[in-house]
Amino acid sequence: MENDAIQLKDVTRVFGAGDRVVTALDRVSLDVPRGTFTAVMGPSGSGKSTLLQCAAGLDRPTSGSVRVGGTELGGLGETRLTLLRRDRIGFVFQAFNLLPALTAEQNVALPLRLAGRRPARAEVREVLARVGLGDRARHRPAQLSGGQQQRVALARALITRPEVLFGDEPTGALDSQTGREVLALLRAMVDTERQTVVMVTHDPVAASYADRVVFLADGRVNGELRGVGAQDIAARMTALEGAPC
Ligand code: ADP
Ligand code: MG
Repeated sequence: MENDAIQLKDVTRVFGAGDRVVTALDRVSLDVPRGTFTAVMGPSGSGKSTLLQCAAGLDRPTSGSVRVGGTELGGLGETRLTLLRRDRIGFVFQAFNLLPALTAEQNVALPLRLAGRRPARAEVREVLARVGLGDRARHRPAQLSGGQQQRVALARALITRPEVLFGDEPTGALDSQTGREVLALLRAMVDTERQTVVMVTHDPVAASYADRVVFLADGRVNGELRGVGAQDIAARMTALEGAPC
């Protein structure tokens, strides 16, 4: 659909060869409308990270099609794919991956510098203010709490105004209170700025911040839930993971 930020069609990703072959994604199709918040859940090894990496142009599917804002990634060479990632995609990881020697504002400015732009301080400060860290611009990561570091990482992902923000367990390393602050921030970006967010999580409470939860099992989409709370999401996960041994 015209209004989709991401479109996956029959995406298959196979790792390895011979008797070591693993089908991490098996004909996954998924459309993500602009301005929505999608959570991706599934048992360990179900293909969540692979799905995110393929959708973000960090990995290439073995077959199938990935479109970002209508651009088919399969047709792009490495250089153009790198530019698309740089200019149109934001990514936050469980480990914040900040550069320890740089201040918060220097970390946030980095994507613009890598793009050959000289970032205006006001621009950097404005993004830091959006994540509630306007007064921490000169701090280095070691001087910040985990939640603050993840908010710096969010600001760094947002400085380029990406069409889609991806998060692979972005709250996985945070305590639940701090994690909720980050989730509330993501939710607010979707609601007030029509940011598109796709987040992998194994936490039903985190997933309940999303508009919809897409479930993966064995590399395949196994249904989705919308407009339900953490308890229903947890019940669905328990069913997917099978009865505990
Ligand atoms: P999840 O994030 O849901 O835990 P992944 O997407 O990381 O799952 O992995 C899905 C499957 O693909 C797993 O069986 C995993 O071992 C395999 N896999 C992922 N990346 C690689 C890789 N680079 N090489 C080989 N196998 C991989
Ligand atoms: Mg993973």
